[in-house]
Amino acid sequence: MSGKMKTPLKAKISVPAAVFCVTLAGQVFHSSVVFEVFDESYISYSLIIALISYFIIDFITASGLLQRKILFIKLLTVYFALLVITNRFLLPRLHLPGSIYVLQLMTTVLLIVVVVICDNLLKSKNNFKFIQNVIQVPPKYLRPRPILFILETVFRLFPVPEPVALYKVGSPHKSSPVIVTGNYELTVRRVAKSLRGLDCWLLVCDSRGINVWCSTLSGHFSERDIINAFELMNVSEYASSGRFILPQLCAPGVDIREINQKTGLSAVFGPVYSENIRKFISQARDVSKIRNVKFDLRDRVEMAIGSPMILTGVLLFIYLFIDLSRLFYILPGLYSISVLLAVLYPYRPLKRIPLWASLWLIIITGGILGFTIFTGLFHPTPSIGIAVTVGIGTFYLINEFEGWSPLVKYNFRSMYRGVEVPEININEELCSGCGLCTDVCPKGVFIIKEGTSKVINAAECIECSACYSRCPKEAIKHSSDKREKDVRSGVYCKM
Ligand code: SF4
Ligand code: SF4
Repeated sequence: MSGKMKTPLKAKISVPAAVFCVTLAGQVFHSSVVFEVFDESYISYSLIIALISYFIIDFITASGLLQRKILFIKLLTVYFALLVITNRFLLPRLHLPGSIYVLQLMTTVLLIVVVVICDNLLKSKNNFKFIQNVIQVPPKYLRPRPILFILETVFRLFPVPEPVALYKVGSPHKSSPVIVTGNYELTVRRVAKSLRGLDCWLLVCDSRGINVWCSTLSGHFSERDIINAFELMNVSEYASSGRFILPQLCAPGVDIREINQKTGLSAVFGPVYSENIRKFISQARDVSKIRNVKFDLRDRVEMAIGSPMILTGVLLFIYLFIDLSRLFYILPGLYSISVLLAVLYPYRPLKRIPLWASLWLIIITGGILGFTIFTGLFHPTPSIGIAVTVGIGTFYLINEFEGWSPLVKYNFRSMYRGVEVPEININEELCSGCGLCTDVCPKGVFIIKEGTSKVINAAECIECSACYSRCPKEAIKHSSDKREKDVRSGVYCKM
């Protein structure tokens, strides 16, 4: 029932991944043959050097797919976990002196082999699975899956791709609407649940297992992916006259005119949240009310739970050489602080990130040290380390948090000078009053008045680029329009 797009196996490995493997192999060879030492610290040191080389080359060549970067993080997490388990827990119990080197060497070779294979498979952007038959939405999307939800929240940096598919919802016919979504598991589940009781089609497209907004803003989801899914699933055979409803948040990267041309359907941008699709289809309410994106407590807390993940990996590595047991104090502390920061986010008194982060660095570090000194609970040396780690970790988390969502404007200028209100001007001679800018803007910046678009709320703009990218008349002049300067820029978004 499910298939897989064939990937041509031509070039075997990308340049950054090749540099990674060669550097790692060279380092390992150097440390084991030249120094005749090959232990946990050497291999980890080698890995860091290899990883730095990878990211430098990846940055210089700009060749890395987001999936490849994520893959590296996943592989290295597994690699560290294997090293820790082997060295710290397994070998001391097995009493097999000497075998540690063989095991570490094997783990390193295995890592290189897996990197080469996965890197090769990821070379094709169309390396996705798809469901060949048109079936009803599978029950797995409709029932609650709390454990999966928790994992997806904690590891939200990792893509969770679902197969590309065309699903039936209820008893759809040729003129039923087609709801388009990305193939991030959580997104498919949320959309499928909101469609219950309707008669429509659900087209799941390849957004690389990432949520639609982040995927489109980071250049991983475009009209090509929607047209590909449309053609692959033969949608025109099942739905030929209904509305083709795209997620509103894909507007920055999806050219709706191209979709109309290639599919013959009439595509429109739907609402921001899937729970409003029903209202959108029935048009029982003013749809402008369901165009705005929120950044409410739930969104912030979900983000905050996933935010310390990279930091956790780094700390695991650092404390491998110090004392892993200290992480029992540090990690719960950092996760709690992350959630606290998310709760307090709208009420923070200092809007400049370095000041806000420094304030917390002082509060946290001073607080833990003061608590330790006055209560005498911990030995001073570890508690200084714990306090400094949690303080620096908090500083990092604040900076991380600012870059996690497209909803937070984040760049070096805004970090130090504060957020500036963008300049948005409409050329009324060009504007046709089509209203597309009001449809795609997630912050309600425009209204249509007297036949043309007017800017009513520039301060709310989060520089998502949707309005000026989609305006069919190129009537919007926006101070953050960098399309001609740097196609890779845009809103900084990590997912
Ligand atoms: S999208 Fe462009 S042409 Fe259409 S209303 Fe907005 S500014 Fe005018
Ligand atoms: S006005 Fe700002 S927030 Fe609205 S669509 Fe344009 S860039 Fe995005």
